[in-house]
Amino acid sequence: MKEYAKDFYNSEAWRDCRRSYAKSVGMLCERCLKKGLISPGDIVHHKIRLTPENINDPTVTLNWNNLELLCIECHNKEHAKNARRYLWDGGELRPPRSEKISRKSVTGG
Ligand SMILES: [Zn+2]
Ligand SMILES: [Zn+2]
Repeated sequence: MKEYAKDFYNSEAWRDCRRSYAKSVGMLCERCLKKGLISPGDIVHHKIRLTPENINDPTVTLNWNNLELLCIECHNKEHAKNARRYLWDGGELRPPRSEKISRKSVTGG
């Protein structure tokens, strides 16, 4: 995560925003869904990348039209287009499947 974006990603406004946005699209990866695949969304991605210039502009950072809920794979693909290294938005959601995994390991055997 970029240093200038830290405060934004830790802000209540962004947490609320990404939570409501994820709910509004059914908590599923929007790109997988278009291909007919059901993948839980992991990351709320900004279509217009956040920069030091727009980080304090809620019409960019908190605008639902600028958001896209993606699974990790689609998110990595999106960022791999423009950068060699994967960049994370820091907009991770905790997907229900990780809970399932830990519950399984408790009762499993
Ligand atoms: Zn996906
Ligand atoms: Zn992203």
